[in-house]
Amino acid sequence: MTADWDAIVIGAGPAGSVAARQLALSGRRVLLLDKKRFPRRKVCGACLNHSAVAQLEAIGLGNVLRAGDETDLTRLELRAVSRRLTLPIPNGRAISRARLDQNLVDAAIRAGVTFQDGVSATVRAGDVRKARTVSVKDSSATSTLTSKVVLASDGLGHPSLSDLSEVRDRIAPSSRIGAGCEVTEFPAEFVPGVIHMAIGRGGYVGLVRVEGGGLNVAGAFDAQFVRGSGGLAQAAAGVLAQAGFPAIPTMADAEWLGTPALSRSTTPVAAERLFVLGDASGYVEPFTGEGMAWALASAIAVSPLVSGACDGWQPSLAETWSREHARIVRSRQRTCRMLAAILKSQTCVRLAMFLLPKMPSFLQPIIRGVSLPTPQTLAITRCR
Ligand SMILES: Cc1cc2nc3c(=O)[nH]c(=O)nc-3n(C[C@H](O)[C@H](O)[C@H](O)COP(=O)(O)OP(=O)(O)OC[C@H]3O[C@@H](n4cnc5c(N)ncnc54)[C@H](O)[C@@H]3O)c2cc1C
Repeated sequence: MTADWDAIVIGAGPAGSVAARQLALSGRRVLLLDKKRFPRRKVCGACLNHSAVAQLEAIGLGNVLRAGDETDLTRLELRAVSRRLTLPIPNGRAISRARLDQNLVDAAIRAGVTFQDGVSATVRAGDVRKARTVSVKDSSATSTLTSKVVLASDGLGHPSLSDLSEVRDRIAPSSRIGAGCEVTEFPAEFVPGVIHMAIGRGGYVGLVRVEGGGLNVAGAFDAQFVRGSGGLAQAAAGVLAQAGFPAIPTMADAEWLGTPALSRSTTPVAAERLFVLGDASGYVEPFTGEGMAWALASAIAVSPLVSGACDGWQPSLAETWSREHARIVRSRQRTCRMLAAILKSQTCVRLAMFLLPKMPSFLQPIIRGVSLPTPQTLAITRCR
């Protein structure tokens, strides 16, 4: 690895890979780093909503979703408190994160990005007048690199910024944790093209068929509920049973991954020669499945600012990113925060499942806010 870069991008999820590619396309020398070996798994519902699909298409990356047998999504089937609610999904796509993130990294490399996986990066505190310093550690050695600008797109809690006291991470009280696995044997009821969503006491679980035919399982749970259930697989099985889905015995032996607390915010999201984006800049529980859309939107919006910063740092760039980030991400997260609070109360869930099909206009602003389809087409049936 060369020691000096225009931009070092830490974390090769959708935010990092897309930002790195955009910068390389504008002629910048970009190094993209990830601590995991690719392709890697990631806890995620594996569903791109129509906004995420449209953003990828708009920057010429529609092909990353058409590389294999990815599934077009047609509807969301929500089950809770013995009721079933079906909503149509326009232009959604299901694809495993191992496949999607590898495709995005490949696209970044094709655009001229240098990619290094299996290395953990830390942004160093110190003199930043000319450049930022980044320590990069692999299994055998640590090297020191410099860059005109650093992008922290390293996911929840931005671990690469642990040295910087000026960037703070605040975890929301009683935030849920995430967990996920993929199973290859499951009941036939889990058909392709449908997001199956179970809401129960202690959490919710989303299930979707991904390329290759497997069933991606991902959920958000109260930590106490996981402990009380005896583990992640048992917590997911408990939520599915409460909501009325058939049991998936293979979940017990599956390889589960967990996440730290999900709902959190980062302040500030920019400092001299540093921009924070994607989950690293703050996240709210995944119920609405918008995380990747936020990550892509922030990657696309930050790139011109980073490119400007490569030509010369101006304090106004940090202010502009804070403002833009609030506009394109934080404002949308407010609705999700409200929904997350509703989901924690069984009484509210019961009421919502009862009212939603009867009073669609009452819920229209919420639904519009999280990019779900209009509620006119809602259909509800009893499932037990
Ligand atoms: C249970 C669950 C379900 C979800 N379902 C959906 C869904 O259906 N649809 C949707 O759009 N979103 C969903 N999300 C949200 C989505 O997964 C995230 O919003 C999205 O992955 C954010 O992308 P990112 O690029 O910011 O970060 P990430 O995808 O988390 O990527 C961060 C990368 O940084 C790397 N990294 C971390 N630390 C370092 C370091 N020090 N040095 C180098 N690399 C580092 C990590 O290895 C990782 O590859 C879900 C999330 C959860 C938890």
